[in-house]
Amino acid sequence: MSYHRLFASFDENDEIIFTDTDTKHLLKVLNFQIGKKVEVVVNKELYLAEIISVSPSLKAKAVEKINFDPELTSFVRLIYSIPKGDKLDLVVQKATELGVSEIVLLNSERCIAKITKEKKDKKLKRLNEIAKNAAEQSHRLIIPSIELVLDNINELSLYKENNFNYIAYEKEFSSKNNVLIDDLENLNDKIINVLVGPEGGFSEKEVEIANSFNFKNISLGKRILRSETAAIALLSLFNFYLN
Ligand code: SAH
Repeated sequence: MSYHRLFASFDENDEIIFTDTDTKHLLKVLNFQIGKKVEVVVNKELYLAEIISVSPSLKAKAVEKINFDPELTSFVRLIYSIPKGDKLDLVVQKATELGVSEIVLLNSERCIAKITKEKKDKKLKRLNEIAKNAAEQSHRLIIPSIELVLDNINELSLYKENNFNYIAYEKEFSSKNNVLIDDLENLNDKIINVLVGPEGGFSEKEVEIANSFNFKNISLGKRILRSETAAIALLSLFNFYLN
């Protein structure tokens, strides 16, 4: 038997409450009634819960805690240069399915669709909703957060102390060694930062700056991938190795 699954929270009486959007969906679309069971994730724990009230507000109580951990063994942060159009939506959804922990957006030199201060809140709200839906659909215990928009590559200095920083660079294929393949076996229980460029790629200067912050160039093969494919291909490697 499979139950509807969603993220929720406890109120002060340890009863489970839902967001307004979820409440509407459960009551109006799925016609939830008292006694109906649902799987909820609260504070990174999974519970089987039963609806105990539908009015004035929708509430459930936990009936069983379920041991289940689908998360990757490392914290994987995707730092993604903002692409054109709705590709960002796609990458947020797929990255979430593949287990990403956090997505940081970067306005890099060749980004065509920069996120301005005025548009930021609305854009991030929408992306976080996409992440929540994808996390529910893929049965995760955490919703990856998307809060930070870096204004340029210099702001990557935030991460310079981390030892596992990688920049996907299409001109790296000439090197004999593939750093990432060598590292993959040792990447459990780490913080991993991966940087992927926009349609036009990174400038040489940007790659130099990233390198100076301890980001190592990695190749994803000899073919040039679209930026969204590169992000998904890279995360699927971690999904495979860090499960
Ligand atoms: N405009 C560039 C390609 C950019 S591809 C050109 O035409 O040459 C967009 C982004 O995807 C790049 O910035 C890089 O981060 C990533 N990428 C694409 N193919 C890659 C590959 N083979 N190896 C590593 N990274 C790649």
